[in-house]
Amino acid sequence: MGRKGFFTDTTVCIGCKACEVACKQWNQLPDDGLHFTGMSFDNTGDLGASTWRHVAFVERPVPLQGQTTGVGDFSWLMMSDVCKHCQRAGCLEACPTGAIMRTEFDTVYVQPDVCNGCGYCVVACPFGVIDRREDDGRAWKCTLCYDRLGEGMTPACAKACPTESIVYGDLDELHARAESRVRALHEQGVTDAYLYGKDAESQPGTGGLNAFFLLVDKPEVYNLPPDPVVPTMKQRGAWTSVALGALGMAAAALGVVLMERGART
Ligand code: SF4
Ligand code: SF4
Repeated sequence: MGRKGFFTDTTVCIGCKACEVACKQWNQLPDDGLHFTGMSFDNTGDLGASTWRHVAFVERPVPLQGQTTGVGDFSWLMMSDVCKHCQRAGCLEACPTGAIMRTEFDTVYVQPDVCNGCGYCVVACPFGVIDRREDDGRAWKCTLCYDRLGEGMTPACAKACPTESIVYGDLDELHARAESRVRALHEQGVTDAYLYGKDAESQPGTGGLNAFFLLVDKPEVYNLPPDPVVPTMKQRGAWTSVALGALGMAAAALGVVLMERGART
């Protein structure tokens, strides 16, 4: 099947939210009330149990690099955010029931009939993606349209995007496409363009993301962590320290016993 993923090029997103709507329609997700946040023109706010694609509207008091606009020092950055289908997925590693699995497409999938709603995955995701639904208690997130992939179809969001801001495909091909796009932008003077989470080298804390992004500002500006680390990353080191501590205490106890024996003889 090969490794599949999403490349999201934020520089061509027009904020139409067709991806959000297509995701909701295909996956039959409930609405979120459609309230404006009061902080921006965004009317869904964040990723959550019933929002698996979220188009962030980032309003910045600086112009776009290399462009002049009629409105002075102001620009919008738009980014369609989603589950990153991490190579080292905190949600998957924390799940005690085996409900979260890696699929034959190398994506991360939650089996709703196995999830018991414990919520361990929610705190283990370094991106704040996976969430429990209030009405049924179980954890939900983007499936990368697992049911569509099985039929050889493109995920609903990528199919609906009119600007190809979201591209689905083989990861190796997406990497080559993304690198070529960064080169082209640099040649056009947009030297701020870079790839976020493309591989383990650039993001060791997650082992790289199967859903990676082209950004033109710092990750924090897009509400992404600059250096995400899966919480289980330090687990082996912690267990080694515990074992060494226990060994040290046993050696100390043995020393006391031997000293006492020596004193009696
Ligand atoms: S982004 Fe979060 S929910 Fe998605 S695979 Fe990574 S750890 Fe799991
Ligand atoms: S469909 Fe494409 S252009 Fe429209 S908001 Fe989503 S990513 Fe942006």
